[in-house]
Amino acid sequence: MHPDEFRRIGHELIDWLADYRAGIAERPVWSRVEPGVVRGQLPAEAPEQPESFAALREDLERVIMPGLSHWQHPRFFGFFPSNAALASVLGDLVSSGLGQLGLNWQASPALTELEEQMTVWMRQLVGLSEVWRGAIQDTASTATLVALICARERLTSHGATRGGLQAEELPLTVYCSGQSHSSVEKAALLAGFGRANLRPIGTDADHALRPDLLAAAIAADLEAGRRPCVVVATTGSTATTGLDPIEPIAELCRQHGMWLHVDAAMAGSAMILPECRWMWQGIEAADSLVLNPHKWLGVVFDCSLFYVRDADHLVQVLSTNPSYLQTSADGTVTNYRDWGIPLGRRFRALKLWFLLRLEGAEALRARLRRDLENAQWLAAQVDAAPGWVRLNPVHLQTVCLRHEPTGLSADEIDRHTLDWVARINASGAAFLTPAVLDGHWMGRVSIGAETTTREDVEHLWAAMRAEAEG
Ligand SMILES: *Cc1c(COP(=O)(O)O)cnc(C)c1O
Repeated sequence: MHPDEFRRIGHELIDWLADYRAGIAERPVWSRVEPGVVRGQLPAEAPEQPESFAALREDLERVIMPGLSHWQHPRFFGFFPSNAALASVLGDLVSSGLGQLGLNWQASPALTELEEQMTVWMRQLVGLSEVWRGAIQDTASTATLVALICARERLTSHGATRGGLQAEELPLTVYCSGQSHSSVEKAALLAGFGRANLRPIGTDADHALRPDLLAAAIAADLEAGRRPCVVVATTGSTATTGLDPIEPIAELCRQHGMWLHVDAAMAGSAMILPECRWMWQGIEAADSLVLNPHKWLGVVFDCSLFYVRDADHLVQVLSTNPSYLQTSADGTVTNYRDWGIPLGRRFRALKLWFLLRLEGAEALRARLRRDLENAQWLAAQVDAAPGWVRLNPVHLQTVCLRHEPTGLSADEIDRHTLDWVARINASGAAFLTPAVLDGHWMGRVSIGAETTTREDVEHLWAAMRAEAEG
């Protein structure tokens, strides 16, 4: 494609995307296509000859659009907010257009140095001290895997450079809350710890990890001749935004020489609000942490911030230094390939830079506060409505609830919950994801799409009452 053609089509596509965003509220939130319908409309083989952009655009409308669920919709209350603020979308476009690949500093000096400075800006915005050094990873799943590998290598004094875990005499154990994200279990398995050495710890009435049960599990493992290696604490768990108490957990880690990794993938964005920082009180005693600007904050997926206290250790664990990657600048610059798994890196810092510069921290804080207030409002409605039960303390933007008509058994309430949630979702008027908590289904309202206003939350609450009480 010639740059002139790119210019013409690019302008048209920007208009098309702007129209999509401007009119998104008119669309049903959730895609209603049946499985296989999108694929069934695609040719079996790639074209040999170029097609017109007009034909491609027609298929975008006809084939792709009906197969989309609209995460940017103001009545999207499912999973978690995955905001793609338009300022960051422009940064992502620039990243693609520049076609940079950060194999090492020399391969794209600006890619590395903007990333370094964005991790500093974000560190300041969330109130972390200067000891932390950060890198942008694709996802929290990757960051947690890297953290667990760092923990493993610290306890084994770089066992990977010898026989790895296969040569360890005693098994190493990993602890997390029973409410932690599935990526923690996956990371433990991928890092070679083995399921038999993963300890999901029980939680309290507020769905937070119980330090007394953690201490007991560590003691039992020591007694049995195993080596406690790492705890993953969660600030803002996936189902209920539960807050594991970092301070007592960090104290246990200190006593036993264990690594502490904090998964603040979702709630980390809220730390730009000083009034929320109590939620990760004790964070300075952790060894690593992850937060996802690609969730609530508004950077278009993917942009996950991974911070460590001991960057030298991280680099020692992850560095490889083949001759074709060596440059004379190596001693004085950051080579981010040594901070994560992939060699090639996209210019992700641009979309964070665009968001922060074009919106400013003040506007981001105001938006998050709006969402927190909307969640408080909904929690108050649920508390006041007969027959409705709230299942989590609402510190953040997620409200977990159930409608419990008198006379129904727990199993019948499960069916009732799934029914009214399914009816709302099928209507297209709003979308929320049901989830299992302590063995039973609940409705889960995750507030925080960029465009969601109080009116949207009011509309959802009216729809929930109508469908559940109807
Ligand atoms: C979303 C989430 C994750 C996973 O994030 P990815 O970036 O998609 O890997 C992990 N932990 C928590 C607490 C989350 O909310």
